[in-house]
Amino acid sequence: MPNIAFVNGKWMPLRTARVSVEDRGFQFGDGVYELIRVYDGQPFHLRAHLVRLAESARQIGIAPAHSIEQLERIALAGCLRCSYRSAKIYIQITRGAAARIHHFPTQVKPTVVMTFRRLTPIAPDVRVRGVSVMTCVDPRWGRCNIKSLNLLPNVMAREEATRAGHAETLFIREGFVTEGAGSNVFAVIGGRVVTPPEGPAVLSGITREVVIGLGRKCGVEVVEAAIPLDPLRAADEIFLTGTTIEVLPVVRLDGKRIANGRPGPITRQLHTAFLEHLLARPHP
Ligand code: PMP
Repeated sequence: MPNIAFVNGKWMPLRTARVSVEDRGFQFGDGVYELIRVYDGQPFHLRAHLVRLAESARQIGIAPAHSIEQLERIALAGCLRCSYRSAKIYIQITRGAAARIHHFPTQVKPTVVMTFRRLTPIAPDVRVRGVSVMTCVDPRWGRCNIKSLNLLPNVMAREEATRAGHAETLFIREGFVTEGAGSNVFAVIGGRVVTPPEGPAVLSGITREVVIGLGRKCGVEVVEAAIPLDPLRAADEIFLTGTTIEVLPVVRLDGKRIANGRPGPITRQLHTAFLEHLLARPHP
């Protein structure tokens, strides 16, 4: 079975999936999205992703055509249809297709697209070695907790990182790290695991939440607190979390080694706990 798509109620091969050029997602980035990982044929924390999607849609005034339960059924049906063991589900909801005006059109039906693609997990040696990241001033707007389609600052930051041979860019806002272009950030400082608190500068990552819970269950002290750049540079460990990367060690920041330049023990412990959590499914 090839990669497949669900577009406004219809299933089709992904390569034939289409939306209107007047779709406000295309015209304005007027929409929200989610990315969900499928492990062994089962979506991981599907319900939490759908709740976040509904909240993002609510925040920008979109009333989706489907309830969370309906989206859940569509996502599970797509997993059966594509039958991939390892996959990613991308869901996008836009305000819909309408003549191009900035304010919200009155007569418009939201567009819903779900795509199902095979996913190749990141190579184990990348995780063993750890990755290098860079920092840049956070140029984004004040509502980064909304998972909106407007990813231009993230795309440009990741492109700059890629060109410079880094895996990720960490955004710095008023001297504090907020998050990565596509990940949340954690640091081990003075024996405690610290991550920036939820709020308008950060996406409330599903993986972030899982890792905070697992850390506390393992007896690791996890604190949600602002991290200034200097203590970040001096951290004992840094790691990123995200749907596709899970728990990914960072070993270089702006070209300088973090501690001894190797993934740290708490990062490894938390990734092991994450893999054990995966084995203890099912969850939506
Ligand atoms: N922050 C940003 C900006 C992201 O794009 C992502 C990935 N979606 C995350 C954090 C991590 O979120 P999650 O763990 O839900 O994938």
